[in-house]
Amino acid sequence: MAWNRFARLFSIDMGMDLGTCNTLVAVRGQGIVLNEPSVVAVKKGTNQVLQTGNGLAVGWVAKEMLGKTPGTISAVRPLKDGVISDFEITEAMLKYFITKVTGKYRWIGPRVVISIPSGITAVEKRAVIDSADLAGANRTFLLEEPIAAAIGAGLPFAEPTASMIVDIGGGTTEVAIMSLGDIATCESVRVAGDDMDEAVIAHMKRTYNLMIGEQTAERIKIEIGSAAPVGEEKQMEVRGRDMISGLPRKTVITSEEIREALQEPVNAIIDTVTQTLERAEPELAADLVENGICLAGGGALLRGLPAVLQKATGLNAVLAEDPLTCVARGTAMFLENIETWKEVLESDLDL
Ligand code: ADP
Ligand code: MG
Repeated sequence: MAWNRFARLFSIDMGMDLGTCNTLVAVRGQGIVLNEPSVVAVKKGTNQVLQTGNGLAVGWVAKEMLGKTPGTISAVRPLKDGVISDFEITEAMLKYFITKVTGKYRWIGPRVVISIPSGITAVEKRAVIDSADLAGANRTFLLEEPIAAAIGAGLPFAEPTASMIVDIGGGTTEVAIMSLGDIATCESVRVAGDDMDEAVIAHMKRTYNLMIGEQTAERIKIEIGSAAPVGEEKQMEVRGRDMISGLPRKTVITSEEIREALQEPVNAIIDTVTQTLERAEPELAADLVENGICLAGGGALLRGLPAVLQKATGLNAVLAEDPLTCVARGTAMFLENIETWKEVLESDLDL
């Protein structure tokens, strides 16, 4: 194994959060080095990834095309629902991101830890590993997202006490209770940030006969959205297309009505959390009275969400530090401590 040790000195360790919305890469000693949308632009009706002047249309380049794409191009989010909808497109995306980061260090492949939604199948896991290997990775390990989030949030996930993570992403919400480095109970639902955007779109249609795009809906959610009243109520001017006249029009909306519109997805997330708690072993549930719930993922940034969860469960609910980068930082920290943690993690990390 001398070669392995030698290679490790000169290769980079890369932790990747392969999210339904955003992909982040963290490198040891450098922090987050890549943060791009998990989007690929393809020729409509095919899985042929588009080429631009600077290479494949993936990430930011592809996101710009979303919603503004001419008829012949569609922008795909290959992990939208927490499952891999298209292997070839996912592979192109992984390859693009890994190569972008390793560009400078191309002569020895990196060790890559990829965090994946806990719902994905064995076949999908294999596909992720194979794609990373094809993209030049020297070794690839998979880490379940709740564990990566727990590490990133600094929870004592490897100790004999319970930790609970609620990771609200774009396409899925993952709820997990962990102890001794293992997931004891987990639940993954396809209700998260995207559904909040869709609820805003539906509200605008229903109440104002106004069609708005996904990006506008997301902006409304981020600017004035909330799960519970928090401080001063806000207003926002929104532009879209009138459904009756077909012409562009604007209107003013309030934070109260958006809170009302977001109720359904927010309640679905709360229900998942309470159901997971109900299924927990009594001893672990008892620990959580002390340890509380930690929220990660971009969806957790919805104002008032921790308070609503706290009210529904009676447990202390806090946001992880920088919820959007929590998983990526966790994967990188995992690599730094892989020799220690492989002992406690059940996963087949044959080193
Ligand atoms: P994933 O892990 O699935 O890629 P992320 O953790 O990156 O997802 O979170 C993306 C989601 O978080 C999107 O739905 C986005 O709209 C939402 N989001 C980001 N910032 C905020 C915010 N300040 N308030 C509410 N939602 C937010
Ligand atoms: Mg995520």
